[in-house]
Parts: sequence; structure tokens; C-alpha cells
Amino acid sequence: MMAEFKPNRLNSVVDEMNTCTACATCLVTCDVFQVLQWDSSSPRGRVQLAYGLYTGEIEPDNSVLTRIYQCTKCGRCEQDCPSSVKLLDIFEAARHDLFEAGYRLEKYEKFSNKILTEGNPYNGEEPRWKIFGREPKERAEVAYFMGCKVAFQEPEMGRATIGLIEHLGVDYTLLDETCCGAPLVNAGVSDEEIRKIAEENVREIENRGVRKVIFSCPSCMMSFRDLYSEFTDLPFETEHEVEFFQNFGLELEHTDEKVTYHDPCHLGRHYGIYDEPRKLIARVPNINFVEMENTREKALCCGAGGSMKLADKELGIKVGEKRMKEADGRTVITACPNCKNNLKISGRVKGVSELLYENLKKE
Ligand code: SF4
Ligand code: SF4
Repeated sequence: MMAEFKPNRLNSVVDEMNTCTACATCLVTCDVFQVLQWDSSSPRGRVQLAYGLYTGEIEPDNSVLTRIYQCTKCGRCEQDCPSSVKLLDIFEAARHDLFEAGYRLEKYEKFSNKILTEGNPYNGEEPRWKIFGREPKERAEVAYFMGCKVAFQEPEMGRATIGLIEHLGVDYTLLDETCCGAPLVNAGVSDEEIRKIAEENVREIENRGVRKVIFSCPSCMMSFRDLYSEFTDLPFETEHEVEFFQNFGLELEHTDEKVTYHDPCHLGRHYGIYDEPRKLIARVPNINFVEMENTREKALCCGAGGSMKLADKELGIKVGEKRMKEADGRTVITACPNCKNNLKISGRVKGVSELLYENLKKE
């Protein structure tokens, strides 16, 4: 029996919802709205749906749920909103309250249950370090948190990152890690479940005496930096791999490959990490690099964020296709396994670490 829908977290964003003037600025740059073209699929429309759920004027049926989840959480609307509405807080509150009340799209429910019972959502066999043939060390200076996407869907990115770390002689370890919890937040799962995951992952790292954790996945890093720190102290630093590799010299071979760079929303718009990946790409001698039409703060989304493809796979693929048109046949380099995974449906894509590793000068 489904519980009656009662707003809970939505109560804390009422002022935000009321701040929206319905000016429509956010419609222009929302990639989801640009594909679907329904007002209810726009950031403004989603605010109105969330407000209707809050007041009880809108029933949480499947069409409303789908609209709420048809969002990549790319943050473009929030960045561009002239009234500084905290749109992502509103969208997360709506997902949380719906999920907690039992109003769930089936795929999010299955996906979340899988993470909570098996540690990852992909039928992946744990422990994941076995894929890379490296058992975690008892103690190390640095840990590589690979994340579910790298381990089970984009292992080539992980092999390249591990290959570079080992080439540089870093004292590092893999981990007995579990899903970072970002997909659970996307679904709307309760804080209590996420707290357990945060504590488990932090304890695992702390017990190995690690001082710095590096990530290939910006969403995993975001979980540690922004989410876990709400529940527990982080007794170590966190860095994305494109930050970490800045600190080392790398001898690289020449290539005339034609490449461009796609800014992952969670790395660029969220953390302002725009220069580091470009500097690493520019280290490859002779590489033929051209920027996409929309870059940095104005970068289009890859279509995979927010676990949106569970609600609407075709929509995610269409958003990705639109982005890949800007590559104009060039290889797209990116710094996120989720971006790679969705963009590669429409063209050639590799991670920054893959580009560096394949061009490493072999002794
Ligand atoms: S840009 Fe901001 S104020 Fe304007 S419609 Fe969108 S959310 Fe509302
Ligand atoms: S976060 Fe991105 S996809 Fe979601 S409503 Fe805002 S602009 Fe659209």
C-alpha cells in the first residue's frame, strides 16, 4: 500500500520555489528541454511540478514522476538563472520525497536495491579490484577510488589511470570499495542509507592510512567532497585524476590525432576544473586540438547525468548525440566515465588518462 504523498524535504525549498519568476531564461540552455520541447520538461516546468506536489494540487502519477526524473542534474539552469534559484536542491527534494513515499519508477527502485544489496548496480562481481589484478595493500599514501562505472562499464579508463599511477611510481592502493552513493541520491533514497555507505567507504580508506584519494569519476568525487562531509569527517584529501597528474612530468610520444574536449558538468560547472584537463591534453606533442563550439561554463551536457537514462534512455542518447555533433568527427577526450559511456554511442571517445597512457614513451 502506497503511503499518501506528504512533502518533507520539499518544505525546506519552498522559498526557492517561490523565487522562480517563470522568466524562461532556463529554457534556452536546458538540453533536456531543447530535445523534448514541453514546458513540463524544462527547469521552470519541473519547479512548477515540484510546487504542485508540495501543495497537493498535483498527483504524483507516473507522468509526473517521469518529468521529475528527466533531468541530468547538469546545473546549467542554476548557473544561468537570473534569480539564483537553487534548482538542483528543488529537484533533489522532489525525488527524495517521492521515493520515500513509495512513488517510484520501477527502474530506480531495482537499481537502488541492487546497490544496497550488492554494492553496485551493474551485475558486477565484487570485489572490483580483481578486474585489475591488484589486491589492496594494507597501507599506502594514495588510494584510487575507481567507482562502479569505471570498474564495470569503462575498465579501460581504470587500466589507463592505474598504468599512469604505476609508471609514476606512486605508493598507491586499490580499495574494497562500494558504490559511492551518487545514484542513490539521484533516485531519492534516504540519508540514512547514504550515511551507511559514506561511513563504510571512509572507514575502508582511513584503515589503510591513506592521505589522498584520487578519482576518475567526478560524481564519485562529488559524493566524497559534498555528501559524505555532511555525515562524517574526511581524514584525507580528495583530487580528480586530472588535478593529480598535474604534479608529475610525463614523457609522451608525438601524435597527430585530431581531438577535442568535452567538459563533464560535475567536474567543470560544479568544481570549476576546466584548465587542468586541457593542460594535460596539450602536453601530448603535436596533438591536433580544437575546442567544441560550447565549452567550459557553456558546455552542453553528455546526457548521462542524474541517472536520467533510467527514466528515459532515448532522451539521454539524443542529448549525447547533440553534444557529439560539435566534435565534428574528432576524437572526444573527456574526464568522466559516465560522459564517455554515453557519448561513445555517437562517436569516438576516450578519457584523458587513456590519451596519456597510450602516448606514454615506452622505455
Ligand atoms: S531562469 Fe530561474 S527564475 Fe527564470 S524560469 Fe528558470 S528557474 Fe525560474
Ligand atoms: S539540471 Fe540540466 S537537465 Fe536538469 S533542468 Fe537544469 S538544465 Fe535541464
